[in-house]
Amino acid sequence: MTDFTNTKIVMKSRPVGMPTNDNFEIQSEPVASPGENEMLLGTLWLSLDPYMRGRMSDRKSYAKPLEIGEVITGGVVSQVLESNNADYPVGTIVSGMYGWQSHAIAKPDDYRLFKVDANLAPISTAVGTTGMPGQTAYFGLLKLGKPQPGETVVVSAASGAVGSVVGQIAKIKGCRAVGLAGGKAKCDYVVNELGFDVCIDYKEADFAEKLAAACPNGVDVYFENVGGEVLDAVAPLLNKGARVPVCGFISAYNATSEDQIKTPEMVLGALEHPPESRFFIVTEWIEEFEDATKALAEWIQSGDLKYRESIVEGLENAPEAFRMLFTGENFGKLMIKVAEPI
Ligand code: NDP
Repeated sequence: MTDFTNTKIVMKSRPVGMPTNDNFEIQSEPVASPGENEMLLGTLWLSLDPYMRGRMSDRKSYAKPLEIGEVITGGVVSQVLESNNADYPVGTIVSGMYGWQSHAIAKPDDYRLFKVDANLAPISTAVGTTGMPGQTAYFGLLKLGKPQPGETVVVSAASGAVGSVVGQIAKIKGCRAVGLAGGKAKCDYVVNELGFDVCIDYKEADFAEKLAAACPNGVDVYFENVGGEVLDAVAPLLNKGARVPVCGFISAYNATSEDQIKTPEMVLGALEHPPESRFFIVTEWIEEFEDATKALAEWIQSGDLKYRESIVEGLENAPEAFRMLFTGENFGKLMIKVAEPI
């Protein structure tokens, strides 16, 4: 045993609709010593992401649901606190999938364990702009959206972790970037700070008219993050030959019955000229993750890629903070600051 105590958050019951604090339980346990070749990690940053809601449900999905009592899935940035592996000396910063907990034992061949190079970008971005959400934007847009100079790229949840990167890459590629976001503050940020051409508040009554006016040449790429009424407004504007990478549809994640869910496939498939569209998962390109991280970090360094973090202090606040993703209270990449590096 070590002298460390692991604080972990487990799923106590499956949420129905919006998760509540009662769906989670905080537990403590002593931390075992790392075995041969293993490392003891201390979590510094925990990423909160919309996909976690899917894992809490037993609805059929691409990933195995969490079991009651299991630590909630999550990406983290951690520091090696004790090590029996010469490749990961004490102090090394890594990212990995170690969940909502303060400590974890890691093996060098763990799925999605990567070393984090603090010289590339601030280490917190390893769960944000240079990590999974940034990679999602990078691969989804470039591989499936295939943006060409002069085309119009529309992205929903435009101020968020994924959407903010999508629009900025679209600008780097010479496109017109149109963001959709909730509220004036987010829309102002998307245009004034991130450099999108325009951003429209989807909560305004004349949203569909404003969107049509902002896309005089139609829409060539729609990067789908939210579904629902936002998709209903974008769909009629899609040009023949448009591409729609379906990244997610957060408006349905807290639906309480299957009947309430209208998937993007349903909406897009009903169009006279359905776009080239498919749902993707970022790990399809896991072999290229490190290339994407490098490209994204270089854009941060050159000033072409800006980001904003929505930071909540303390692991114990994760259940409450998680809801911010679905109320729109997060403004930028939502993450929990768990500890300072040693
Ligand atoms: P964000 O940082 O964008 O946060 C979520 C945002 O979604 C909120 O801030 C809110 O923004 C918006 N939102 C919430 N509820 C609704 C609603 N009912 N209607 C419209 N907008 C809503 O999150 P991420 O960038 O991490 O994730 C964005 C999307 O990308 C999600 O659908 C997620 O599941 C998906 N994703 C998919 C991956 C993949 O591999 N396919 C990987 C990573 C993410 P606002 O205030 O503007 O409404």
